[in-house]
Amino acid sequence: MKVLVCNAGSTSLKFKLYGMPECTVLATGKVERVGSTDDAIFGYCNTSTGFKVDALKQNIPDYAVGINKFLFELTKGEGAVLSDIKEIERVGYKSVLSKDHYGIHEIDEGVMQGMRDFFPLAPVHNIAYLKAIETVKAVLPDAKHVGVFETAFHRDIPLERKIYGVPYEWYEKYGIQRLGYHGASHGYIADCLNAEKKEYKAISCHLGGSASICGILNGKSVDTSFGMSLETGLIHANRVGDMDPTMIHFLKQIGMSEEDILRGCQKEGGLLGISGVSNDLRYVIEAADNGNQRAKLAVNVFVTGIVHYIGAFFMDLGGLTDLVFTAGIGEHSDRVRAMVCERLGAIGVRLDEEANRANAPIISSRDSEVAVRVIPTDEELGIARRTYELV
Ligand code: ADP
Repeated sequence: MKVLVCNAGSTSLKFKLYGMPECTVLATGKVERVGSTDDAIFGYCNTSTGFKVDALKQNIPDYAVGINKFLFELTKGEGAVLSDIKEIERVGYKSVLSKDHYGIHEIDEGVMQGMRDFFPLAPVHNIAYLKAIETVKAVLPDAKHVGVFETAFHRDIPLERKIYGVPYEWYEKYGIQRLGYHGASHGYIADCLNAEKKEYKAISCHLGGSASICGILNGKSVDTSFGMSLETGLIHANRVGDMDPTMIHFLKQIGMSEEDILRGCQKEGGLLGISGVSNDLRYVIEAADNGNQRAKLAVNVFVTGIVHYIGAFFMDLGGLTDLVFTAGIGEHSDRVRAMVCERLGAIGVRLDEEANRANAPIISSRDSEVAVRVIPTDEELGIARRTYELV
């Protein structure tokens, strides 16, 4: 069976076409900087022949253009892996949030309505995902479309770490609580550690356009930096992260419109907001190195947030055996990893600088009390398996 996995991040689109149940990857595709009309990146690879497309400076204004570009490559020309896209029987989506649907569900109108109902909680992601789902559904109306929701991995976090200090009825009546996201990624990291050992205390740092920290005790999520929405925790590429809710009330009172406040928090905040340079950490670091003080500040705020959560989760876990870096920044930025680890000496972290520069699987030195790892996340593999298995 051919299963297509669609992963629509806040600033990127990734695709993998699998042959199941063998879990063979037949083709991959990616779009970076979705929304850019002149600086988007498009990549495609037929994994059996090695045929590749690597295109820079692309005009990919929205998700539909990116998706259609990838589907076109699957059947056309040298890179084709299918004779007809109708061969795709199932499509799995790394979906974020749908009211009353927190696990793995076939995407019907009810699930999509649940996603719309939760627009206020996940506006950036749910709008992007609905667009992705609608676009792919229209092209593949006979396939089974499956939502693998990001909240599933965090369902067992103890209530004392999930509940907010709000009237208890808000929790009971409206479900107000910390939900946690990036479940496919942190769950994949747990799978990797589970394959090695049964007992461990790990902290997984998923650092990408969205960023979150997760405490994992023997395979289960016990702590997440994300709250009920994705506008929480660490600063993100262009989202605010943790913020005092009273600020919103205050900004409204001094005359700012709700629309402007939300735009600031959801699109013009985070690394972009502080630095004024870019939502892409590569450009922010480059500007910082060239002496831009706001860019330097943005990098320091990002790193400080990571260190704070690691410190807190270290105490909740009662120690730490493994510290894992993953996703775009976690896997590729030796600079950020070094800045974080430099500040973790008190909990026994020692970095091997050469291994770190090489993005090696283990980047801690021999005398480190914690194994520091770089594990490329593979959210798509878990999603392909769950999509294939759903009856
Ligand atoms: P998303 O959360 O949008 O799916 P990814 O996990 O693919 O994103 O991460 C994308 C981000 O990774 C980019 O915005 C970029 O800032 C960052 N990134 C990738 N490579 C590097 C690098 N070498 N140094 C710093 N940041 C990097």
